[in-house]
Amino acid sequence: MVSPWLGFRTRRSLRRAISMCCLIGVIVALMYRIRTNHNKLSRELTDALLRLHHPYDPNVKLVSALMNLTDPGVGGTGLLLDVTKLPKEEAEKFKRSLEQWEYSTYTSSFVPLQRSLPDIRLKGCHSLYTDLNLPETSVVIIFHNEHWSVLLRTIHSVMDNSPRHLIKEIILVDDASTDKTLKEPLEEYVTRFRKVKIVRVESNVGLTRARMIGFEQSTAPVAVFMDAHCECFPGWLEPLVTRIAQNQSIITTPNLHSVHPKSFQINEWGHGKEMGIPVLVFPYLFFTWSSMSEEMWKKRKRETDPVRSPAMVGCVIAVSRSWFRKLGMFDPGLEIWGGQATELAIKTWLCGGGLEIIPCSNVAHLYHPHRPSEKRRIAYNRNIARVSNVWLDKYKQFSDNYDGSIAEFGDISDRIALRDSLKCHPFEFYLTHVNPYQFIPGNGIYTGPIRNVELGTHCMDSGGRRKGDSVNVLLYFCHGQGNQLWDFTERREIRIGGQCLDSGYGDNVMIQNCHSQRGNQEWEVVSLNGHVFLRSNGYCVGVTKNKSALVLEKCRNSVLQLWTWKHNRNPRIS
Ligand code: UDP
Ligand code: MN
Repeated sequence: MVSPWLGFRTRRSLRRAISMCCLIGVIVALMYRIRTNHNKLSRELTDALLRLHHPYDPNVKLVSALMNLTDPGVGGTGLLLDVTKLPKEEAEKFKRSLEQWEYSTYTSSFVPLQRSLPDIRLKGCHSLYTDLNLPETSVVIIFHNEHWSVLLRTIHSVMDNSPRHLIKEIILVDDASTDKTLKEPLEEYVTRFRKVKIVRVESNVGLTRARMIGFEQSTAPVAVFMDAHCECFPGWLEPLVTRIAQNQSIITTPNLHSVHPKSFQINEWGHGKEMGIPVLVFPYLFFTWSSMSEEMWKKRKRETDPVRSPAMVGCVIAVSRSWFRKLGMFDPGLEIWGGQATELAIKTWLCGGGLEIIPCSNVAHLYHPHRPSEKRRIAYNRNIARVSNVWLDKYKQFSDNYDGSIAEFGDISDRIALRDSLKCHPFEFYLTHVNPYQFIPGNGIYTGPIRNVELGTHCMDSGGRRKGDSVNVLLYFCHGQGNQLWDFTERREIRIGGQCLDSGYGDNVMIQNCHSQRGNQEWEVVSLNGHVFLRSNGYCVGVTKNKSALVLEKCRNSVLQLWTWKHNRNPRIS
């Protein structure tokens, strides 16, 4: 018989349906509870943390009331405190916190430990990463006296923005911090998270070795190394892991954004063509931001496609466990800070793998100024000397000291053996295939002093400019030293280090920071003794009638517009 009201055939099936409904109800309620608990924007501290209130921590209640603060930091907003309006004692704390740390821990204490960031993914991203059948990851976060609020925000943001089943564990490596809050109170705080483990290192081993200690403790097939001051955007993890699942010798990094070191505002940086691409800078072997080349932009089919990256920042790196092992992990000889990201980037490219930015993955990193430290400086010089002497072949000279001496860099024989056993390409491969635009001082297509043909004795001279200055280029007696060592590059820039010959706005010839956007920095060098002209308007660099300065003017058949320099090599790209 068919029940007139529910359509159930028997009482038994009705009972079964009711209990099924109850079960579903309980599950839904539980899930809801877990979700709401999970998403609750917490400013809560454990008792232990409260007890250990740092002398420079703010009086949150007092200042919030006084300054009428409502939800500072929520959703990625920032908090710029007007210090002049703070009570004297609080202003003093604010100042001291900035002095002790390299970012405003005072401000950070007002921002929730758990805050959700907006979904800033490109349009095509949502439908691309629906396959969740991906390898698990271990997130390795190392820290040395990071402020607890910043560290905990990093941990929360990893958990809140990643599918649970993709995070096998989060391994925190305490690289011998001395801050007490990072000991017991931190332990107490993270006991609520089953997947978070803390590993303690007794003496400060520096970030390379600390990351390796974390890696050795981890077990998932993919490792993500993350600085202890990052915040992840929704959907950051799946794109990084998906690419590795497709090709395990590709190391992936997200599109990076920034956390402001004073206001803790999340600043969204460019997407698509505006996305920053890290490239190597010589002679410091650090990274600088560049933009996607025209060819690369055209080659990619979709905006969401991965972007080949010649270098990396190093604050968030996803890598397959087996590829990382095969590459000999990081060089354990790298000390304290520096050289690590450069080494990994160069070797993955030279040894058969790659490095890519995955545009659908977004993470904000707190770029903080570093307090000058002699220990760090010495470590950095040593580290880049190691990296250069293992990987750069004839270009290793760039890490030499100014007086020609080489920093003491220890034994590199096992690193060289590794390079040989993996049959890695010579560094020239990097210059022709990975980044043909790579600028190396002294290795331009044309290089050296640029001498005026008419005057014979006078050269273009950048005039002892300082970084960031925009000054007119001088005409000066040729001495062939620093200010007169120019390079004509693949991007058709005329450079001295990071500075470029620039047409400015009028008829002057200036020096400006290179921007790699062509326009007023794109020149043509016609021949070894020829005209030098700006591509955009065809105007030539000449010398004024009184022969005292440079000028940008209509090209003429005049020796005052002819310049001599040395031809060095053919362009890497036609
Ligand atoms: N770090 C560390 N030991 C050190 C120096 C740094 O564990 O001796 C950690 C630091 O807490 C951070 C990461 O290494 O999580 C990267 O350091 P930092 O952010 O200073 O480098 P940057 O991002 O400025 O290159
Ligand atoms: Mn960092």
